[in-house]
Amino acid sequence: MTTPRTVLVTGGNRGIGFAIAQEFVAKGHRVAVTARSGEGPEGTLTVRADVTDAAAVDAAFSEVEAALGPVEVVVANAGITRDTLMLRMSEEDFDAVVDTNLGGSFRVVKRALKGFLKAKFGRIVFISSVSGLYGNPGQTNYSASKAGLVGMARSITRELGSRGITANVVAPGFIETDMTAELPEEQTAAYKKAIPAGRYGTAAEVAKAVAWVASDDAGYISGAVIPVDGGLGMGH
Ligand code: NDP
Repeated sequence: MTTPRTVLVTGGNRGIGFAIAQEFVAKGHRVAVTARSGEGPEGTLTVRADVTDAAAVDAAFSEVEAALGPVEVVVANAGITRDTLMLRMSEEDFDAVVDTNLGGSFRVVKRALKGFLKAKFGRIVFISSVSGLYGNPGQTNYSASKAGLVGMARSITRELGSRGITANVVAPGFIETDMTAELPEEQTAAYKKAIPAGRYGTAAEVAKAVAWVASDDAGYISGAVIPVDGGLGMGH
């Protein structure tokens, strides 16, 4: 049994974030989720926040701290795609994805660090993607944002590794959620052929890895990239 912690998951109202929040609840932690709309799973506290807005992120943390105590584990999960080939990609498509996926993670983790430094303890988990390591046509914006999280986790590890803080990256492959439901059928079939496991993963499978890397058992793991991708990105 790992020590019960106060956990905050961004984008916990659906998809992978929802499953991550469920997993932490099942493991006996105090769990809050941020959501722009909807609610987190049963047993969680839902707070409103858009991760592109630093003031909203700050207010969400304050609300969670008042209700559940200092945040000890933060999962930067909120993310978007705006896929198109690079030649057709607008600056706006690029900026929106980088500002949400990379900038949003920066804002959330920066706010979490205040409490982590005071407590001399903290667990940071960034939700990246196989796309950030392996590349994917049509996702230059998304891949760049997700690769950036690896550099962020490793720099945090070097800055704050001696303060009881770990920063790790979980890199899912193709997971059954609203995000992948948008993909055309022939693209889905081609992806499944390329995945050694021969199938998409489930959000619950990602959640298990996240909960483990945030647990007491993983205290000496930092700056790591943990793939949950059925072997798709092997070696990257
Ligand atoms: P979904 O599209 O199902 O959910 C995305 C979540 O992010 C929603 O809760 C959404 O909130 C939230 N979100 C998006 N933008 C913002 C914002 N500006 N502020 C706050 N919350 C925001 O995606 P998944 O569950 O599939 O993806 C979750 C994470 O996993 C993402 O970072 C994604 O890149 C990553 N990932 C997903 C993979 C997959 O195959 N599905 C593969 C690899 C990585 P709202 O409901 O309000 O829109």
